[in-house]
Amino acid sequence: MAIVGGGITGCSAAARLAEAGLRVRIHDARAIAEGASGRNGGFALPGGAARYDIARETYGAERSAAYWRWTDDALDRLEQVAGDALRRPGSYRLAADEEERNDIRREYDALREDGFGPAWLDDVPGGAAGRFHGAIAHDRHGSIHPARFVRRQAARAAAAGADIREHDLVEDVEALDADRVLVATDGYGHGLVPELADAIWPTRGQVIASAPLDRVLYDRPHYARQGFDYWQQLPDGRIVLGGFRDTSILDELTDVEETTPAIQSSLESFLHELAGEEVEITHRWAGIFGLTQDMLPLVGPVPGRDGGVWVAGGYSGHGNVLGFACGELVADALLGDTSSPQLELFDPARFFAAGG
Ligand SMILES: Cc1cc2nc3c(=O)[nH]c(=O)nc-3n(C[C@H](O)[C@H](O)[C@H](O)COP(=O)(O)OP(=O)(O)OC[C@H]3O[C@@H](n4cnc5c(N)ncnc54)[C@H](O)[C@@H]3O)c2cc1C
Repeated sequence: MAIVGGGITGCSAAARLAEAGLRVRIHDARAIAEGASGRNGGFALPGGAARYDIARETYGAERSAAYWRWTDDALDRLEQVAGDALRRPGSYRLAADEEERNDIRREYDALREDGFGPAWLDDVPGGAAGRFHGAIAHDRHGSIHPARFVRRQAARAAAAGADIREHDLVEDVEALDADRVLVATDGYGHGLVPELADAIWPTRGQVIASAPLDRVLYDRPHYARQGFDYWQQLPDGRIVLGGFRDTSILDELTDVEETTPAIQSSLESFLHELAGEEVEITHRWAGIFGLTQDMLPLVGPVPGRDGGVWVAGGYSGHGNVLGFACGELVADALLGDTSSPQLELFDPARFFAAGG
């Protein structure tokens, strides 16, 4: 069996499949973790990409609760194999204004009702103190060194016999010498499977990192403005900040992996505010993730391909825990275990309605 994409999804699936005894091969146009899995903000948050109260309205209360619990379990499992690539300092979801306070208050109430038990804070300690209009504090959320984690997953897969082929661009999935192909390219590889082109939209995220600061201002991942802006301070003191995609939202629906002056300048100003002084910016980068219309991933066989082509991707910017979980989920399904209710929720067929 062949997997296209050596990110968190492809490597987690490969590890599971190889450990179950399948002959598996990963092809990546670059090297392991050089896609979004090595370029992201490092938030390891359980849950889906949508706000929980909205998920309940959209997918149904029971299905949303089961979905969120499933990702909680996935984060616990991820911790068991991540070693020092994962810390669990918690996270703050912040309200940038009164309107957002009302929104996240609704999410908080919905989470409490369903037994998830985050805490509400009118203000947060640290560098964000006095600047926001309330926060949801999740005390078991994580911060991940994503590339380190994915390389470990790749090493696990290789140790179990997986063949890893880097710098190996796949142009035609049907031409691969494999009985089944798993497409694990998330926002990259748009058009490789033409039927998926309208279901998973490539979307660009931009990030900057400061030089190390000599004090801790942010002891956990922070995110505000519905998650459009996100930052955390790494153990070496650097602040990593991403966001402002909404300031030119249509231009950012692209797979061109480059930074733009407008978004970089917004990030810079905000970084100086967060640090409370002008700080040196040492790194800038862009990455591409896969966005879906309903904010749910696609996991399962691609309709019309006779079970020969499968997909796992479309995490809508939320793929660290979900990519790990969906990599394992699709591997289990490929091994014949289709009992998980998530497979129904994530079924790619929902984008292939009759006549659609
Ligand atoms: C800037 C940014 C910040 C983010 N922040 C967070 C965050 O803080 N928390 C979070 O949970 N998620 C975040 N995400 C989303 C997360 O990074 C992704 O959802 C996740 O990494 C997807 O993993 P993947 O393995 O499915 O795909 P990727 O890691 O993107 O890997 C896909 C791979 O497929 C390969 N590929 C594509 N086409 C081909 C082809 N034709 N032939 C061979 N290889 C091919 C690519 O080279 C690439 O390596 C962020 C994303 C971005 C871009």
